[in-house]
Amino acid sequence: MLAQPASGEDFVPKIILLIVIVFVAVMVLRAYKRSLNKPAAPARDSKPEDMVKCAHCGVNLPRSEAIYSGGVFFCTPEHQKLGKK
Ligand SMILES: [Zn+2]
Repeated sequence: MLAQPASGEDFVPKIILLIVIVFVAVMVLRAYKRSLNKPAAPARDSKPEDMVKCAHCGVNLPRSEAIYSGGVFFCTPEHQKLGKK
């Protein structure tokens, strides 16, 4: 009594087909969302920022992230406090 009725065999592939359709739709939506977000990131990279050197430890960092103090740049407020080496 393990044999399934004919109507049951028809039912299973329909569920699988539905799952596949939903899965594909989700993947397409994700790829679409990713493509929408993509142009924002390279736009930032296309404009290279000036690199400055920390006067204390000598690490290079973007000018916008550096702290300008007394004619020199520092990487962190700690190094600004410690001053020029
Ligand atoms: Zn530093």
